[in-house]
Amino acid sequence: PTDLNALADEFVRLSYHGIRAKDKSFNADYKLELDPNLPKVNVVAPEIGRVVLNLVNNAFYAVNEKAKSSPSSHRDEGYKPEVVISSKQTKKGVELSVKDNGKGIPEHIKEKIFQPFFTTKPTGSGTGLGLSLSYDIVKAHGGELRVWSEEGKGTILRLHIPIS
Ligand code: ADP
Ligand code: MG
Repeated sequence: PTDLNALADEFVRLSYHGIRAKDKSFNADYKLELDPNLPKVNVVAPEIGRVVLNLVNNAFYAVNEKAKSSPSSHRDEGYKPEVVISSKQTKKGVELSVKDNGKGIPEHIKEKIFQPFFTTKPTGSGTGLGLSLSYDIVKAHGGELRVWSEEGKGTILRLHIPIS
């Protein structure tokens, strides 16, 4: 039995510090809004951990891209990159959401993001395998991985794992 809250906490830090180590200009806030009564779920923890890592890596990347393209003009109107990881119990299981206020996903791209090797990142910085692998892992656990996004505003990736 695995505590998804602990996984979320561990992997968001790992992702954040990993990106910062490579890119000193990277700056983003992250928040954990975790359900304190979240039941444990029977999952292969390293696999679901990898899913969480993929999702938060993508989220930080998206806010970083938006930050780089927003002019830091006026003091208070500046863009504040933020990633929120939340968990909650549902009727049949638990869900974990990774929400960002990054660049968002254009409509015509949304249907492709779960395909293997699909990436919009420059050569060398993305394999395009993160989401397709994540999708397969979540499916293998009998769960669901879904996306909501609005171009220019942000994205939510949400995974649901049933309690067996
Ligand atoms: P990679 O990260 O190597 O590009 P992924 O499978 O993780 O591969 O993601 C595929 C594509 O989906 C990304 O290149 C990007 O275009 C899009 N994407 C995924 N997550 C986000 C996000 N949070 N915000 C904006 N675009 C995203
Ligand atoms: Mg990725």
